Amino acid sequence: MNADYDRLAALNKDHLWHPFTQMKDYTNSDPLIIERGEGVMLYDIQGRAYYDGFSSVWLNVHGHNVPELNQAITEQLGRVAHTTLLGMANVPAIELAEKLAAITPRQLNKVFYSDSGATGVEIAIKMAFQYWHNRGIRGKTTFITMNQAYHGDTIGAVSVGAIPLYHDVFRQMLFPSHIIPYPYAYRHACGETEALEATLTALSHLLQTRADEIAALIVEPIVQGASGIIVMPPGCLRQMAELCRKHGVLLIADEVATGFGRTGAMFACDLEAVSPDLMVIGKGLTGGYLPVAATLAIDEVYDAFYADYHEQKTFFHGHSYTGNPLGCAVALASLKLFEERSMIEGVRAKASFVERKLAALKDRPHVGEIRQQGMMIGIELVRDKESREPYDWAERIGVRTSLQARELGMLTRPLGNVIVFIPPLSSTEAELDAMTSILTESIISVT
Ligand code: PLP
Repeated sequence: MNADYDRLAALNKDHLWHPFTQMKDYTNSDPLIIERGEGVMLYDIQGRAYYDGFSSVWLNVHGHNVPELNQAITEQLGRVAHTTLLGMANVPAIELAEKLAAITPRQLNKVFYSDSGATGVEIAIKMAFQYWHNRGIRGKTTFITMNQAYHGDTIGAVSVGAIPLYHDVFRQMLFPSHIIPYPYAYRHACGETEALEATLTALSHLLQTRADEIAALIVEPIVQGASGIIVMPPGCLRQMAELCRKHGVLLIADEVATGFGRTGAMFACDLEAVSPDLMVIGKGLTGGYLPVAATLAIDEVYDAFYADYHEQKTFFHGHSYTGNPLGCAVALASLKLFEERSMIEGVRAKASFVERKLAALKDRPHVGEIRQQGMMIGIELVRDKESREPYDWAERIGVRTSLQARELGMLTRPLGNVIVFIPPLSSTEAELDAMTSILTESIISVT
């Protein structure tokens, strides 16, 4: 076993370039090499067990190695692994599209597949852009995004992103977007009402003065994820949606992170009964099994593309694996489990349990804020609780806490000084109890 570890560790170092990773740091450490998973546990090649405390980057829903999901893939594999959606269809892609139209907010009726959250976002912004063009309305070519937003890493998605650390280096390649403040009350040292007002005032001003230049607003509904799991004040999303509607600007809800039960509703938009014009889903769509994403559009958007060919209104976009039957089959099986296992009700109960378990952390000297929406939890660590002074980047407090959690048997990945806890939705109370204990112990020992 160890010889195998040494061999793979050396090959990993020689050949694998990891995402979002400074390879100099990484190659100087002992790599964690996962071999298998079972339920909420992952096992490395040396046989050590870890709780999957961040759902393998926020996407695992029913756990790993789930018989029903495995079977859906195997059965589809026995039929066909892949066929294109160019000029033909396949059975799971059709059935999944029908299902998605049924479970997403009411008017989203058309499904365009892709293979990652970023490509789903890319499609949404291209659709929004071309929607106005096809309708003969010129000039509505820019986008509004929110401060610190993250929508993925392709160039279009980066252009509507606003995290300088990830995006600044590419500035010259990007199209500019308008950025409005995100209501991050804790960091701005103000109340929720004030933070909400700042957001709505900025959006309202922009829409009043420049709506004729703006194609769409893109937003991570209810929870801004990569910026540090920051929960919007109640009513924010709904009021933003109303402003967009009033001023004739499309609303794109990026539900890549928040979709599929994560926030305690099937989609975060459901929490405020918001029906966007375009919605992007990914991550949990296949239960965390295969890379399928989708962009859903309302009929009005679809209809703007529906024309005689010579009118040049076609949406010229697609990927080789668009609508992959294996991915669609496992997504259908995952959605069946959502119903059979009453997952959404389960998330709400489990979220309350986690909230109670983490409550004691609030009084710790370096715990600034615990933010939670359903099973998305971010714990912001600060050097000084009183002044909210953040830890210096160089102190790597988040990384050190995550490494400590790994030592204690749980995997997670921080967002700067924010410790992320996003367990699989299938986690039992006993598993959540163990995971929150590891989290608590790690934070206490590092801070
Ligand atoms: N949008 C949001 C809100 C996300 O959180 C992410 C990933 O974390 C993405 C888009 C990009 O998804 P992917 O990594 O599948 O490209």
